Amino acid sequence: MVNTVIPLADLRYAAQAPRVPQHAAPPMGVLADRLGRPLRDLRISVTDRCNFRCSYCMPKEVFDSSYKFLPQSSLLSFEEITRAARIFVAHGVVKLRLTGGEPLLRKNVEALIGQLAALRTPSGEPLDITLTTNGSLLERKARALREAGLRRVTVSLDALDDAVFRRMNDVDFPVEQVLRGVDAALQAGLAPLKINMVVKRGTNDHEIVPLARHVRERWGKAVVLRFIEYMDVGATNGWRMDEVLPSREVVHRLSEAFPLEPLAASAPGETAERWRYRDGGGEVGVISSVTQAFCGDCNRARLSTEGKLFLCLFASRGHDLRALLRGTGPEGQPWTDAQVAAAIGLIWNEREDRYSALRGADQAEPGSGERRVEMHYIGG
Ligand code: SAM
Ligand code: SF4
Ligand code: SF4
Repeated sequence: MVNTVIPLADLRYAAQAPRVPQHAAPPMGVLADRLGRPLRDLRISVTDRCNFRCSYCMPKEVFDSSYKFLPQSSLLSFEEITRAARIFVAHGVVKLRLTGGEPLLRKNVEALIGQLAALRTPSGEPLDITLTTNGSLLERKARALREAGLRRVTVSLDALDDAVFRRMNDVDFPVEQVLRGVDAALQAGLAPLKINMVVKRGTNDHEIVPLARHVRERWGKAVVLRFIEYMDVGATNGWRMDEVLPSREVVHRLSEAFPLEPLAASAPGETAERWRYRDGGGEVGVISSVTQAFCGDCNRARLSTEGKLFLCLFASRGHDLRALLRGTGPEGQPWTDAQVAAAIGLIWNEREDRYSALRGADQAEPGSGERRVEMHYIGG
């Protein structure tokens, strides 16, 4: 199943120290990078650990018992995450997504959700808080997550067939448990719920129509199924273009089983192209991360488990925000929120990442050619 697994060069410690400007202007609620893109969406990785070993993300051969996950002392505390989130919100972030690794493995993640749910935008609105999970612990945790203030959840599910699913998670985890997790999430009111399926040609592409049928029949409009092109993230999954099934092929196969019609994008920066079943059976989406770059309006930043800020999923280096959250200025005093905000503002203002657009244009890999960080570390 895994083709060529590439040994991991540890890039987790490669980070730039942020510059703190001398005169820190207060955040104005909107930032623009060099390509005029605002910052609206912050993805926060709360753990680098996972109980699955999906070959496209954490191949077993690399993430084995000798792999050193981050020590507890390196992780941002809930207070540090909440402080960082508050500063990002002052810069215009309106959406927070908790991810990982497997976010439900972070002890007491509900307490973090509670703290984040109390934040408000500069105009007093609550934030759109969501979480991406492999669903393995959802049946047990759905109610507590909802009670803590989580609004929505995205569940990753790559196959309906139990044997294919067990092979893809590579820890022999049964699909039924994830399906029950989705039931529990809907019962708890975590809706609308999204299911994401990463499609690998030759591995699970024969599961597209069966999974779509199951979602329609079991959950109807309450669940939106989305198909994601297998991406060349990280440096260990041995990615090959011939294993990418282009989204247009997904739409073609689906529409042969269930006629579809296109829907308009729901929000600027929306990554999914949306479709509706003509018979009123609900909505599906395709995310063409490889064949149709959406860098032009990418408004997302990622905060790693240990507080490094990444401006692109394909970046090699982060910016060490934890150094500001924990450290002190030249006179030994802790950095203030205004100073941390000003440093983040500078970082975003200088951003010009657009990896997928350059890949699509067949240009050489941007940047210095350094290897990219792993997805389980910065979050998807
Ligand atoms: N463990 C959680 C999960 O699987 O939902 C959250 C973290 S996971 C890194 C976030 C998302 O990234 C998942 O939906 C996963 O399928 C997706 N992902 C990981 N590696 C990928 C790849 N190479 N191509 C496309 N999507 C990928
Ligand atoms: Fe774990 Fe999610 Fe990566 Fe799979 S995709 S290995 S569930 S972090
Ligand atoms: Fe955003 Fe980077 Fe993905 Fe482009 S490649 S959409 S800049 S995360």
